Amino acid sequence: MTEEGYEQDYTTNYQQIHSGIDIGTDGVDKLPVYSVTDGVVVGIEKGYKGVGDLVIIKELNTERYWMYLHVNVDPSLRVLGSILPDGTTSNGIISAGKTIAKIAPTSYTGLAPHLHLTVANNSQPTSVLNAYDETTVLGRTVSPLQAYWEYRNR
Ligand SMILES: [Zn+2]
Repeated sequence: MTEEGYEQDYTTNYQQIHSGIDIGTDGVDKLPVYSVTDGVVVGIEKGYKGVGDLVIIKELNTERYWMYLHVNVDPSLRVLGSILPDGTTSNGIISAGKTIAKIAPTSYTGLAPHLHLTVANNSQPTSVLNAYDETTVLGRTVSPLQAYWEYRNR
């Protein structure tokens, strides 16, 4: 697992700033991925930039967007809400622990099976994925571990 924000490997390999954490699975794919929080599914992007599916869930009653990448989205998952101009979402709530996806195989992502998890603090969460600007990433994301702790202790 790597730290939120600036990651040397990604900078070296892709000239990009790593905006989240990677959770490896020791080469195992198809493991279930559960929503960390109660929230609203506000985005599903199949085959995001060729590295697997992306699921974006807005945490309930906050401005946090949890992004799950390098997965196969669960066929039953639907976009339940849209991001409104004030940053809130329309209706449709899923519960923490709901299966949202499976870890995608290398054949789909070109990567060793793993979950990339980013927590963004703004209404355009994908703006911090593949960002080249460290200030942008650090200003608009929070460590998923910190976000989880805060979620559990609200
Ligand atoms: Zn990653």
